[in-house]
Amino acid sequence: MAESGGLPRIVIVGAGFAGFNAARELSGLVAGAAEIVVINSTDYLLYLPLMPQVAGGLLEPRHICVSLPSRLRGVRFVLGTVQHVDARDRQIVRWDSPEGGSGECHYDRLILTVGSVNKLLPIPGLAEYAHGFRSIAEAAYLRDHIIRQLELAQIAADPAEREARCTFLVVGAGYTGTEVAAQGQLLSTRLVRRMPRLRNQKIRWMLIDTAPRVLPDLDPRLSKTAHRVLRRRGVEIRTGQSVTEVMSGEVHMSTGEKVATRSLIWCVGVRADPLVDGIDLETTKGRLVVDEFMAVPSAADIYACGDCAAVPDVTRPGQICGMTAQHAVRQGKQVARNVAASLGFGKPERYEHRDLGFLVDLGRAAAAINPLNIPLSGPPAAAITRGYHIWSMAGNRGRVLADWTLNGLTPPEVTSLDVISGKSVPLDVDHPRS
Ligand SMILES: Cc1cc2nc3c(=O)[nH]c(=O)nc-3n(C[C@H](O)[C@H](O)[C@H](O)COP(=O)(O)OP(=O)(O)OC[C@H]3O[C@@H](n4cnc5c(N)ncnc54)[C@H](O)[C@@H]3O)c2cc1C
Repeated sequence: MAESGGLPRIVIVGAGFAGFNAARELSGLVAGAAEIVVINSTDYLLYLPLMPQVAGGLLEPRHICVSLPSRLRGVRFVLGTVQHVDARDRQIVRWDSPEGGSGECHYDRLILTVGSVNKLLPIPGLAEYAHGFRSIAEAAYLRDHIIRQLELAQIAADPAEREARCTFLVVGAGYTGTEVAAQGQLLSTRLVRRMPRLRNQKIRWMLIDTAPRVLPDLDPRLSKTAHRVLRRRGVEIRTGQSVTEVMSGEVHMSTGEKVATRSLIWCVGVRADPLVDGIDLETTKGRLVVDEFMAVPSAADIYACGDCAAVPDVTRPGQICGMTAQHAVRQGKQVARNVAASLGFGKPERYEHRDLGFLVDLGRAAAAINPLNIPLSGPPAAAITRGYHIWSMAGNRGRVLADWTLNGLTPPEVTSLDVISGKSVPLDVDHPRS
């Protein structure tokens, strides 16, 4: 990469919620006084909270992907995947380009915001047969997969095959799994209406978790609402259970039950991006150790935040911040101010944010939310949830609103594009970069 013209160079690796907001904030704070370089594996910022609606056929995948080059003004954008960070001697970041090339650059300040990936468990067959839910490709794949299973089920001569194709297992009843089960079930209900041969076929959706309730990490009042809504729609909620083995066409449960299915959706949580494992910096619970200013204690010029960093939660002494967009956005803005301060612009401040509550969209006019700790459900909660998402998106608001409006006027068009194969969205991305 060409030199920065004598200006200090701030390199941000990863432009998700944290990195994008860091870059935007920094471009205002150090305009003309430092060069800002953003390196990201994709050319878009993915609005993950609306991914279940993509899987449910309600939103076009592209509409929740916000263009980085057009939204990041005053920033040098590099499309590439960082493979190596020399955090000690040379202060160098090296990346691979999508078409096989590579590049490297020197940094004066480095902000690591590479986010997280699907978390695997050592369950035989899991990596081969299950699919995760962390990327736009996985969301689009799941939508196409559900459509394909039902289309194949209606022409299957063997009742056992038909039953397996009409059975969908979602493992992990956190907010991701709960929303995926809710939207998936609604999609399959809409599809079956236009498939007369499946009219008497049971379409089975199962939501499985080892915890005693759905949404185990959230307010129990939200769990109650989600449980009630999903049960009413016929979703089988299996708490206190897990999957012990996965085979082609069959899943073994901890209860000894064997479930014939072609669909196992793995939503048990996330862990820091594997890049973190390859950097010579301390980690805790797989996330980079940082102080309350989001600075890495052993490397004065490196900062980290978002899902990949263990940012101390000063509102809950001894604990670290959860992996949520709510934290990542605010941490991104604060880390920008602290990095600017390290270059002489302003004063550093520790990160402090008290949880504002959570929104769980259950599809149609149902949601379970607790903004400012006030529990709400039903249409008002669904309206607040949608309003919040529109407000927090960094772009494409009009497109998402248009999708929702059209869905209200005509039934959503659900066709399987079939351009994403199961092999191209592997669950296992455990390849630490060095
Ligand atoms: C389905 C789903 C729904 C969710 N809903 C909510 C919600 O409603 N509310 C909420 O608060 N949180 C929600 N979350 C969690 C939230 O999305 C994450 O906590 C948030 O995305 C973390 O932000 P981040 O910037 O750390 O990481 P990300 O947003 O994941 O961004 C990381 C970026 O780094 C890039 N990257 C990764 N590795 C490299 C590399 N080596 N080189 C270059 N670039 C790299 C990625 O391409 C990505 O752009 C949800 C998560 C999921 C999966």
